[in-house]
Amino acid sequence: MRQGTKLDSKQQYNCKRGSRRKENFMIVDDILSKARNEKRTVLTEIEAKQIFKEAGINCTDTRLAKTKDDAVSLSEEIGYPVVLKISSVDITHKSDAGGVKVNLQDRASVEKAFDEIMASAREKFPEADIEGISVQSMAKPGIEIIMGMTKDAQFGPVLMFGLGGVFVEVLKDVAFRIVPLEKRDAAEMIRDIKGFKILEGYRGQDPADIPFLEDMLLKLSELVDKTEGIAEIDMNPVFAYKQGAVVVDARIILEAS
Ligand code: ADP
Ligand code: MG
Repeated sequence: MRQGTKLDSKQQYNCKRGSRRKENFMIVDDILSKARNEKRTVLTEIEAKQIFKEAGINCTDTRLAKTKDDAVSLSEEIGYPVVLKISSVDITHKSDAGGVKVNLQDRASVEKAFDEIMASAREKFPEADIEGISVQSMAKPGIEIIMGMTKDAQFGPVLMFGLGGVFVEVLKDVAFRIVPLEKRDAAEMIRDIKGFKILEGYRGQDPADIPFLEDMLLKLSELVDKTEGIAEIDMNPVFAYKQGAVVVDARIILEAS
């Protein structure tokens, strides 16, 4: 590039972070433009995880099977046990639709799960546009966490952190911080929740890798800060381990353009 050439803000951003970053952001842009062209505001779990992966956030290896044969070959590539889930932008709560089968150990179970998921989804959501079934690695059990982003009318994008399941649904034990987060915000928001003791290791249970979770929040903040048009993000659940953590289910909603 000629010296003195002015960069627009996007180029400056890409240059600062080197070429790999540039490539990554093209993948995010591609996914967002594809959805917009199809007049969708909901991304599939597969698309959401691709975006997180490009942002450096660890997710279960998740791929799309259009047919039962695809599902079997993907399961063999990924390695058993696997999880199969319905993939449709019209089905928000996949389990309620009979759309999630976990811990599938072999070819026969994958074939059976494929048929059962399709039958159940078609019965419960006859109008749904089903793109196929996602095949993903089965994450080992960990402490269930949720992370997300919503847009506040006054503060703009805010990140949310909490423990999963009953903690968020019944106890509303969650913490919020305004984007962009600083390192200190990430550390504080994790320690803000009442259930923090559970993350520190409770009655002989393994503690969660708190520095890793802090880093995930910072990466999520960076993604939100640098990407226009995201209305909402849901990572529910994330499994946290003694070492590392993994996003198991993901959802991204775009702003209506
Ligand atoms: P829903 O749309 O119903 O929220 P999820 O993808 O969250 O569907 O799946 C429901 C539950 O199944 C999760 O809360 C988790 O306990 C389990 N589960 C889903 N995917 C995986 C996975 N890849 N590995 C292990 N458990 C999983
Ligand atoms: Mg979920």
